[in-house]
Amino acid sequence: MVLANENYIKTPDSYYVGEIEKSINAYKLLHPNEKIFRMSAVSPFMPLPHDAIEAMHSAVDDLSTAENFKSYGPVQGYDFLIDKILKEYRSKYALSFDRDSVFINSGSTTDLANITNVVSGDNIVAIADTIDPAYENTTVLSGRAGKLKNGKWGNLVYLKCDETTNFLPQLPSERVDIIFLSNPNNVTGTVINRSQLKQWVDYALEYSSLIIYDASFQEFIKDDNIPHSIYEIKGAKKVAIEICSFSKSSGFTGIRCGYTIVPTDLQAFTVTGKSASINKLWKKLIRNYTNGISYISQRGAEALFTRKSKNEISEFINYYMINASMISEQLKSIGCSVFGGQNSPYVWFKIPDGGTSWKFFLHLLHNFGIVGTPGIVFGAGNDNFMRFSGYCDQTDLKTVLTTIKSNFKKNKF
Ligand SMILES: *Cc1c(COP(=O)(O)O)cnc(C)c1O
Repeated sequence: MVLANENYIKTPDSYYVGEIEKSINAYKLLHPNEKIFRMSAVSPFMPLPHDAIEAMHSAVDDLSTAENFKSYGPVQGYDFLIDKILKEYRSKYALSFDRDSVFINSGSTTDLANITNVVSGDNIVAIADTIDPAYENTTVLSGRAGKLKNGKWGNLVYLKCDETTNFLPQLPSERVDIIFLSNPNNVTGTVINRSQLKQWVDYALEYSSLIIYDASFQEFIKDDNIPHSIYEIKGAKKVAIEICSFSKSSGFTGIRCGYTIVPTDLQAFTVTGKSASINKLWKKLIRNYTNGISYISQRGAEALFTRKSKNEISEFINYYMINASMISEQLKSIGCSVFGGQNSPYVWFKIPDGGTSWKFFLHLLHNFGIVGTPGIVFGAGNDNFMRFSGYCDQTDLKTVLTTIKSNFKKNKF
């Protein structure tokens, strides 16, 4: 008899995510001729940069000849791509790493989940409360979360991150071993600045904790006082893993490619106090779990670093960020409290009059065909909030904003 891993049974399927789709489908059936305005997208929709398309075509050509055929590649990734990443960190942030520190990944999802395998199950894990549910879910799947009580897992430390803290996670009052930080936060669009991030790095140095730094949205950061990489903070190479992705900036959501930096200085400890290089443990995991990332994806990713691609990518990002700023301005002008939207495509806002998010979601959908992401999706504590995303068509957005302006009076929905 095969026994199930019950951690997988314990992890809840998100109820509201299913309900959102059901509600949209029901609306479509009732209003087949009405347009739906999706303000809830979590990924870009523009086509890939031209050079990346060319590079992937030519990678396919490579595979079609015996001389250039590629079998398994290096498990950590091809040097042609790792070199580009190292060069980018040197020129943009004046940071250098051993080549061994960079691992090409298949997007950040896999590595964010796998990272929990190279450290002991006895570690205390801290996550911000409000943050992407993925970190909580993978911690539950890994068996570290304990028992669920009132919507919270007993062994997880939830870092206060709500309206009272401007949706910035607060340092824990107790010792924690592993801290997930997402900067920008992909729920609220809020960002941790340099001096705040220094407090996290200092905390981790003091307690020998590990920070798993999700930088999936680093390309959207515009303000000088917000770090793009955690390694811009002194000492971070001793305490942090940085996980990056080409998905959200360059449309690689379907291609699947990114990179993870596991500095060679990073140490974990055995129960007897001996140190173990996390980089070496991680290499073992990658060798046994993945066998590397597709050659075609890596050639495509390499081409994201050409001048032409960089210009195209920054144009895409500008487009999404103009949308985010239009959303923020309109919501502010009708009196909403607004978070994010400046260094992230997401705008997180409070529903006026104490409105709750599921009711508000249905109100927007049924009356105007507008789809937002209700805060309840991210936990009961966020039920007075909604998220709109800048990943939307600008012409549609103008219609949405006019609708909001003419239907919602100051502070009243
Ligand atoms: C989208 C997203 C990911 C996952 O992206 P991949 O496509 O797997 O690279 C991870 N973290 C955050 C914060 C995200 O928004």
